[in-house]
Formats: sequence, C-alpha cells, structure tokens
Amino acid sequence: MKKKKVAFSTLGCKLNFTETDTIINKFLMKGYEYVKYISFADIYIINTCSVTNNAEKKLKKLVKIALKNNVNAFIVAIGCYSQVNPKKISLINGIDLIIGAKKKFKIINYLENINLYKKKTAKIYYSDLKKSDLYFPSYSKLNRTRSFLKIQDGCDYKCSYCTIPKARGTSKSDEITNIIKYAKNVIKKGIKEIVLTGVNIGDFGKNLKPKSNFLELMKAMDSFLYEKKIIRIRISSIEPNLLNDDIINFILKSKIFVHHFHIPFQSGSDEILKKMKRRYSSNFFEKKIIKIKNLMPNACIGSDVIVGFPGEQEKNFIETYLFLSKLDISYFHVFSYSERINTEAISMKNSIPQKIRYKRSKILRILSKRKKYNFYYKNINKKKKVLFEKKNKSGYIYGYTDNFIRTKTTWKSFLINQIKKVTLLNIDYLGNMICH
Ligand code: SF4
Repeated sequence: MKKKKVAFSTLGCKLNFTETDTIINKFLMKGYEYVKYISFADIYIINTCSVTNNAEKKLKKLVKIALKNNVNAFIVAIGCYSQVNPKKISLINGIDLIIGAKKKFKIINYLENINLYKKKTAKIYYSDLKKSDLYFPSYSKLNRTRSFLKIQDGCDYKCSYCTIPKARGTSKSDEITNIIKYAKNVIKKGIKEIVLTGVNIGDFGKNLKPKSNFLELMKAMDSFLYEKKIIRIRISSIEPNLLNDDIINFILKSKIFVHHFHIPFQSGSDEILKKMKRRYSSNFFEKKIIKIKNLMPNACIGSDVIVGFPGEQEKNFIETYLFLSKLDISYFHVFSYSERINTEAISMKNSIPQKIRYKRSKILRILSKRKKYNFYYKNINKKKKVLFEKKNKSGYIYGYTDNFIRTKTTWKSFLINQIKKVTLLNIDYLGNMICH
C-alpha cells in the first residue's frame, strides 16, 4: 500500500515546535511519509498558536498553500488556537478537522477512523481543559544539534492579555525521573544541547506529589549530566518573580547550565505592569538584572516587551524606552499588543491605534538591535565555547556560544555538532560574530 504523505507547519513558541516534533515521530512510526509543507501531501497538519493576530493570518495563508499543492488535501488544525477558538477556525475555508490541545497527541487515531475526503464543514474534536491535568511529555529529536525538552505545560497566572492558560490549562509538570530519562535519550542521539521548555517553567513541580521545584530539577539534571561532560543546558525562558537567587547562584556554579537568561518583562511602566497583572515591578526587574550581571558580567540576558497595551500613553512608552535603554540586557523581542478573545485586556478602555503600536514597536526594535550589538562588541577577543551546527552556509559553519552569541567560522566538516573553544574576533555586516 502506498505510504500516505503528511506535512506539518508549526506556529508560535518553542513548546509548539517540540510537540510537533513528537507528533511527527508518531506518524513516522506508523509508516507515514513525512514531507515538506511546500510539497505535495495527502494530509497537512498545522500546529496553531493563540497568542497574536498574526498567528491567525498565518494559519489562513498556510491553508491556501496546502490547497495549492493538493486541492484534495485533508487539512487539520491542532493546538492552542484550535483549543481557544475552534468555531472561528471552522469558518476558514479548506480546514477539515480541528483538534484541541488535549486531544492533539491522539491525532492519528482520529485520522484513521474518518475518511480523508474534503469536508463541507470541519469536524471538531475538543474538550474542556478545566477538568484535565493530563501532561503529555515531549522532546525534539529531528534537529541533530539541540533538543527542546518539554518539562512543564499550562499556567496558573492570569496576565490580562494572555490566552495561554485557556489554550493549555493549569500548570502541570513531568516527573524528574522521566525528564532525566528523556535527557538520556537525547544524549544517545549525539545531541549536545538541551533547551528546557514549557509555558511557565519556573513554576515546575507544583502539581507533583510530593511537590518539587525548578531548582530540584536543575540539581538532578546537573549531577546526572555533568559526569557525561558532553552536554549543555539552556533555559528557554523564566518569569522574573520565579528566577530566585538560589537558581541564579546555581547557574553561576553549574558546569552545564549556560549563562543565558530569557526573562519576559513586558513594560517599563509600573502602571501598565499592574494593568497587565504581571507579578513584579520595574524596580524588582532591574534589581534582578543587576544581580545577574554582578555575578556573571558576560551572561546573555534577553527579554520580551509588549507595546501598545490599552492605556499605554506616550509617557508610559517613554518610561519603557528609558528603562530598557539603561538596563544592561543583551536583546529583547518586541510584540505589538494583540486583542485576544476571553482575555481581560480586550475589554479595557483607551485602545492604542495600530499605527502608534507599529511606530512604538519599530522604535524598540532599533533599540534591541543596538543592545545586541553592544553585547556582542563587549565579547570581542573573549574565548567562548561554541556548539557548531551542521549546515555549510556559503563556506561558513555557524553556531551559538554558551552566552547565546551567533558565531561563524570557515566551514570545516569536522566541526559539525562539536562544542569548540574559540576566540571571538569581530562582528560581520549581518551581525554575526566571526570566530576562530
Ligand atoms: S505567565 Fe502570564 S503571559 Fe506567561 S503564559 Fe502565564 S498568563 Fe500567559
């Protein structure tokens, strides 16, 4: 029997990519042929994101691409947006099946129990997350250099702009023994870097019996992996109020946890932070950065900022701009506020016009670029360990340092997937660090 061709596209965060990777492996084990999304396939699966309006636009575009490749293609939307707004997705012409967050890992069962002909209206498999604390483990193994290892899912916080708690439910974590087991599998595949990922990973362990916490997990991974001496661990992101001094001091001493902190911060205005229902003040955040930089001057600190939140007057935006300008951080991602259904913020007054949101995000992106350049500049002539990737890009091989600097050196095949100590020489016109 001819193998069915299946193609995937993922929107959103690292966690979504990790889960797609796990689902792809389930299809491969069932004998499907995994093909690129731009090519012909019988089934197209889109792992959706509920965080921004952009994600919605991208979903529609992906459906069009699939139908262009195969007008009879069976198209499935899974994941966060399918969980938050299945009805809206069912209005998108061409989608045949919609599967929510809890049921997405059972997708093959659904596909093998329905006929794969185009549907007039999409079939929806959805379940309320409130009653569920089911946890689905996941780690990526298709990338040979680094693996995203899911350790936690869902969130108990109530940030007023965020749909994630509705898309992924309450905070739940995997058992430490399981995580170590998956880390072993990753090492067996010769992968050199593990990126711990989740939704609110600083909240790790709260649902476990007996309770645990993120530091306990870090210690368990450190002692197990250190003796292997071939791996490094990166923390994808951690909330400022959960990044306590014990964690910072542990990373300072650890031989495998890299000095890279991604700490979402969202606004430099305490008035706006309050409206966002974030759990810290700008002063608290600043002290955290100063603490890290005092202990690890070369650490990379990244962040996320939202512009155009309802009620963000010019003075609030200037507060954010000045705050970020003085902060010793290395880069930050800028998001324009997006109205999301079922969030508190959507009904807040003083909505900011799109063109103002656009202007403010442009200004902050320029500032972020400057921060990155300054951070790179401070690292010139320093010796750093780089994990080189696999591709030969116009005669160069690329990789990241432990403190997250994008580097390149002349292509040498023996460097593939190797961690090598190099000297950082200079920054090329594209913003990559040349090393030797
Ligand atoms: S911490 Fe806030 S922004 Fe992050 S996932 Fe939870 S509710 Fe959303």
